[in-house]
Amino acid sequence: MSRIPVAILGATGMVGQRFVQLLQDHPWFELVELAASDRSAGKRYENAAPWRLAGANPLAGSRVVAATPEAVRAPLVFSALDKAVAAEVEPAFVRAGRIVVSNASAFRMDEAVPLIIPEINPHHIEWVRDARRQGAGFILTNPNCTCIPMTMALAPLNRHFGVEAVTVASYQAISGAGYPGESAWDILGNVHPHPGDEEQKVAEEPRKILGAAMPGAAQLAAFPISARCVRVPVVDGHLVAVSVRLRENPTVDQVKEVLSSFRGPITLPSLPERPIVLTAARDRPTPRTDADTGAGMTVTVGRIEACEVLTIKFFALAHNVIRGAAGAAIANAELIVERGLLG
Ligand code: NAP
Repeated sequence: MSRIPVAILGATGMVGQRFVQLLQDHPWFELVELAASDRSAGKRYENAAPWRLAGANPLAGSRVVAATPEAVRAPLVFSALDKAVAAEVEPAFVRAGRIVVSNASAFRMDEAVPLIIPEINPHHIEWVRDARRQGAGFILTNPNCTCIPMTMALAPLNRHFGVEAVTVASYQAISGAGYPGESAWDILGNVHPHPGDEEQKVAEEPRKILGAAMPGAAQLAAFPISARCVRVPVVDGHLVAVSVRLRENPTVDQVKEVLSSFRGPITLPSLPERPIVLTAARDRPTPRTDADTGAGMTVTVGRIEACEVLTIKFFALAHNVIRGAAGAAIANAELIVERGLLG
């Protein structure tokens, strides 16, 4: 098939640059437009923002355009916009009949907007099918970067043993704050409790993903999540320490078996062969050793042990800008194509 033209809104940012990197030579998508703010529009991509990833900027000479439906013509756009900007810009693209695959949190908890991890709840995409039949645009979102490692592990545990309550503490990389992110004063030689609404996102979004599929709307899973979020001086890779109370009382070995045998129901170009890998090492997962597993799309889980307070505790880690952002959105766009929702 000929490749589908796509664009990036927020192409100069931390997530936007990852999109550029990951979309090079994509089998289904051809990146044709880069959009950002008025500060960047009209500039060559290499002049709008310095390239912050390893290797050369693959689109250095491309011209950045404004993030408007008039300037961007692609039928499918990836959004790596700040929340407040996304709240204005994404609906404008939907009104113009476009598909918006978004990383931003602006509409993640909107009850008619699917919030999807393809291995877990691809069926939630059906909420937009009616709108699409009538030719309307829609927004599809992926979760917050800290939700990814915990939700990937909670999904098979919920299916097999029933999740009743969760506590989570995060150790989040600085790339999760975008560029320039936190000041050096706050993060160098320091750890920094998250001052924003991260804990609320981590407490809500997994419950939407693991909630019952209702026609056209979300029903949140019933269990509570208590979250504490902290930024640490690490470049890429969010680690979470999770404790979970399970309805059934599985052994540690049963939990390990359920997590290591977990597979999603579909195959897509950006999904790894194994969504979860387990590590037996006492001192892993760590961002340095495990964030790039499965080309940054695999979640690594370790230190699975009986919990003295709830039932089971473990650490889980994911690459926050790949599995937690650009890679997650590209997989969601592949799901749109696979489900025949593009045309
Ligand atoms: P970032 O580095 O601050 O980049 C923000 C982007 O938005 C830049 O391209 C910027 O363009 C553009 N922008 C700002 N104001 C604009 C406007 N008025 N009109 C059009 N474009 C505008 O942020 P980021 O870390 O890439 O995050 C992007 C989004 O992804 C956020 O919603 C964030 O919450 C979400 N997210 C991030 C991560 C992560 O790990 N970083 C993970 C999951 C989700 P200019 O360069 O022209 O200003």
